[in-house]
Amino acid sequence: MKIYKFGGASVKDAEGIKNVVEILKNQAQDDLVIVVSAIGKTTNQLEKLVNDYVSQKSTSLDDVKKIHFDILNELFESDHSIYNEVNNLFIEVEWAIEDAPTSTYAYEYDQIVSVGELLSTKIVSAYLNKEGYANKWLDARDFIKTDNSYRNARVDWQLSAAEIQQRIKKGSVHLTQGFIGCTSENFSTTLGREGSDFSAAILAHALDASEVVIWKDVPGVLNADPRFFDDAQLLETITYSEAIELAYFGAKVIHPKTIQPLKNKNIPLRVRSFLDEELQGTVISEGVKIHPFLPSFIVKDNQILISISAKDLSFIVEDHLSHIFSLFAMSNVSVNVMQNSAVSFTVCVDDDKNKIPALIEALKQQYKVYYNQGLVLHTIRHYNSASVEKVRAQREVLLEQKSRSTVRLVFESQKN
Ligand code: ASP
Ligand code: MG
Repeated sequence: MKIYKFGGASVKDAEGIKNVVEILKNQAQDDLVIVVSAIGKTTNQLEKLVNDYVSQKSTSLDDVKKIHFDILNELFESDHSIYNEVNNLFIEVEWAIEDAPTSTYAYEYDQIVSVGELLSTKIVSAYLNKEGYANKWLDARDFIKTDNSYRNARVDWQLSAAEIQQRIKKGSVHLTQGFIGCTSENFSTTLGREGSDFSAAILAHALDASEVVIWKDVPGVLNADPRFFDDAQLLETITYSEAIELAYFGAKVIHPKTIQPLKNKNIPLRVRSFLDEELQGTVISEGVKIHPFLPSFIVKDNQILISISAKDLSFIVEDHLSHIFSLFAMSNVSVNVMQNSAVSFTVCVDDDKNKIPALIEALKQQYKVYYNQGLVLHTIRHYNSASVEKVRAQREVLLEQKSRSTVRLVFESQKN
């Protein structure tokens, strides 16, 4: 049994969906679960719709409808039953936004945004069947069972595994949604943005899959983000731990929750290109060496460096630290890098407009606070002197931290 996951970019238009059919036919797996995300940028569009709805602004589904119906018109004859199915899903959303919201933002969000995945999977499944690639559409809400922490629902692993095993038997092809689940009261939930990778991992874990493949628009896991580095190279093999570290430091490799369930069952994860099937991509598994052994570069923009010292300039001791950390925790701010001296404690965090001003106010009640905005944090895994020099590029370093495997450097952003 294998699990294939296709993200929104792979099915963003009719061409994309035809390409997915090609891949599936070429790969010829008959023991397969296919996980599909919402088409293109649908999730962002539905998110905006929910925001408008909840703040009672006028809003419309027209853009989302157009993208989906354009695809239908290219892929199906006008009498195909898929038109009705897609229409019914849109009607559900229209009904939902007709009345004023009754519950929390997060609840409304999940009921509406989850429709993106229902639409895409209905369309892809129907098209595959039409093209002679038989598959059974499943509603993930029947087996991804979660609590009611809407927008970031926690999975009930035992219950989900039992439901999955009951519905998915060996020797056939099933197609289902990523990202969505369901509470015990039958309300839709979502697992956090970009959560389809995680859905694939949940299925793999429950089914003891032999491999998970994430089909992406990049050749695999690269040692740098090609938007920042023009010489990014493919990593052919990395360990689960390395993938977790890369995700932790901010690399947009795969959804961070994806690795642990696969690691627990020793199921390899392959990241490969839906644009070039010849390429073998990256395999993430246990007991392998990073190959090729290269430094990895991770860039986090929009950072702020906050330095905190006691008002009487006394030493920063454990009491202060635990108080400072409790203020960070209350503001829901996670620390990217921290460093302390005798009289001050410095942290580098994401400069989130919704969180940081209030945090700084809270800190100022008891401490002297200085801060520096407009910064960028570079992390280099498996650094050497050449890679550090390359990143440093004669810039002034505001904070530097080295461990045996990782160096982290904070600079002013170069944008201005
Ligand atoms: N469609 C969802 C999102 O864009 C889930 C995913 O793509 O993984 O966040
Ligand atoms: Mg997506």
